[in-house]
Amino acid sequence: MKPSTLGLVAALLLVGCGTPTPQAAATIATETATLTLQPPAPITAPPNLALPTQTSTPSPTIPPPTATLDITTDQWPTPLSLMLHRKSAKFDTVAFLRDFVKTLKENDVHVVTYQQVATNLEMTLRERGKLVIISIDDIHLIAPIPPDIQEMIEILREAGYPAVLGVVTEGISPTQETVETLKELSALGWEIATHTDTHKNLAELENWSPGDVRMEIRISCDKIEKAIGIRPITLILPEGQMVMTPKLVYKENIRWAVGINGGVVFDSTDRFFYVGRESPGLDAAGTFRAMMQRFAP
Ligand SMILES: [Zn+2]
Repeated sequence: MKPSTLGLVAALLLVGCGTPTPQAAATIATETATLTLQPPAPITAPPNLALPTQTSTPSPTIPPPTATLDITTDQWPTPLSLMLHRKSAKFDTVAFLRDFVKTLKENDVHVVTYQQVATNLEMTLRERGKLVIISIDDIHLIAPIPPDIQEMIEILREAGYPAVLGVVTEGISPTQETVETLKELSALGWEIATHTDTHKNLAELENWSPGDVRMEIRISCDKIEKAIGIRPITLILPEGQMVMTPKLVYKENIRWAVGINGGVVFDSTDRFFYVGRESPGLDAAGTFRAMMQRFAP
């Protein structure tokens, strides 16, 4: 992300980890039906007139849709991305996820991880509207995985869907069974992401100690790598809050910074990608619709 756009993103990052954020931060021009024509327009661009759905007598000045995928773009659409946390008295995440998986099956989507997208950016254009990333936050390396999170993992495993797990690493001795589960899931194609060492709000931490932002990332990546043998490339931002200084993140070799608001497109000329996520709404079908509207309008 370019520094000039960070202010915008920072302004959008208003809501904490786990707080529903129904509003998409911005809209982008649409041209998805044939996956062909043009890169997604910048957030502020007016709607693209050359919609492939305009089938009646196109004007000779508007080029017809072609079957060629344009991969020369710097801007890529974020896959539909969902953020999940433990269930609470107010919201049963397990029941929601069970319904959400049904909705995904009905819509014949392809569930992937940030890691997979990093090696195949074209996939985000080619499978726009069919690509979904599910992430579960707040798994602690030094504690057993809570039963409700285990249940969510099981639901996703049964569905054959890999997910992204945001791991907090504070403490000294990892819990062996947690480490074994993370290793097993990693071998199945799941992604283990850092959710920092002590789950501090990095935007606030940057204000008084920027060096500690890097240490939060580095220490957690060190601990995860030591425990499971793979170094994370994805940072799930505590409370969804992104820092103003990108190098604090990319100098720690992080490829993806995952917040909450904004981030419906990402720029492949950046040294890392900022992307947003949607919180669950009242029901699975409504959440899926909101995600489509936000990430693949
Ligand atoms: Zn969190």
